[in-house]
Amino acid sequence: MGKTYLFAPGPTPIPPKVLLAMAKPIIHHRIPQFRMLFKGVLEDLKYVFQTQQPVIVLASSGTGAMEAAVSNLLSPGDKALVVRGGKFGERWAEICKAYGVDPVNIDVEWGKAVDTGLVEEAFEAHPQAKVLMWQASETSTGVRHPTKELAALCQQYGALSVVDGITAIGVFDVPMDEWGLDVVVSGSQKAFMLPPGLAFIAMGERAWEMVQGGRCPRYYFDLEKERKSQEKGDGAYTPAVSMIMGLRASLDLIKDEGLEEVFARHALLARATRESMKALGLELLAPGSPSDAVTAIKVPPGIDGTAMISTLRDKYGITIAGGQSQLKGKIFRISHMGYVSKADILLVVGMVEVVLRELGYAVDLGKGVGRAEGILFSE
Ligand SMILES: *Cc1c(COP(=O)(O)O)cnc(C)c1O
Repeated sequence: MGKTYLFAPGPTPIPPKVLLAMAKPIIHHRIPQFRMLFKGVLEDLKYVFQTQQPVIVLASSGTGAMEAAVSNLLSPGDKALVVRGGKFGERWAEICKAYGVDPVNIDVEWGKAVDTGLVEEAFEAHPQAKVLMWQASETSTGVRHPTKELAALCQQYGALSVVDGITAIGVFDVPMDEWGLDVVVSGSQKAFMLPPGLAFIAMGERAWEMVQGGRCPRYYFDLEKERKSQEKGDGAYTPAVSMIMGLRASLDLIKDEGLEEVFARHALLARATRESMKALGLELLAPGSPSDAVTAIKVPPGIDGTAMISTLRDKYGITIAGGQSQLKGKIFRISHMGYVSKADILLVVGMVEVVLRELGYAVDLGKGVGRAEGILFSE
């Protein structure tokens, strides 16, 4: 029958209203109608990022905004402290290297949040470090790093905080201005409920000052140039017009629900997912500091993790994610980020039960679903 369901941590499902907005006839971008649309979107992005600072929209996947942060803020030879506890932490370090910036890696066991004591030690050992870079939510391991505490350390040591909030913004509370974060990046295909193709970067005053001194080569991702254009509702180059029409619709959905409600929903869906997996006797990869965007679960001994994921997808039309790099075959990841409801959680938990049983794991069918129902529908 071919019906499919998407529970991967990006791209995430897209609401019909957003799909329809993107299907509208395209308009030209150098006309008042587009400028009004773009200005409104940029204003509402500030609400989602919880900042008064400008949020810049780039036409790229999320990594483009990460690269823009490095290439605009830093100079070859600069030192950058990097929290490296997963695939995306590694990415910060790789981008730094590509630009001749010297990453000082703070290695964290995959599945654990960074110990702030280690970050303090790194600052003490490298007082010249210009920035600390981390993931508010490390999607590859399902970990939430202590962003508020890390931001405070940055202030204490006079470094800029550069936060990958790609699976945090619009998922849980990361108040940029209140916590004094200098740079926050995100992308369209996660909690923004859009296809891949847009990246966002918000920067505070200290970061905009630092951009003036950045000597890395850059052309397309020139944030100063984009800021000046976008202030007027223009892009420096042709903006992704249809994506921005979709973004208008997704921001309307987020505003209608309200940011606090959005966070509360993600927290509830995430808790129900975690508890249901535990009820099945499974172990979480990140029990200590889980992200509300995605839950990473260890594949039980004797079960083929790759077969589990392909059976869910090919036989039942349900896409979840596996592990990356060293976690390949060892974990599976269920996303509950973006356009996800309580009913969706019952569906994915139930189907995980079914497939685990098919592969030979002893499951009491309904045990996980029952636990999820108890949490989701108790009030
Ligand atoms: C998805 C994601 C990215 C960006 O990946 P792209 O494929 O470039 O969109 C970066 N960091 C985290 C934490 C992510 O989840």
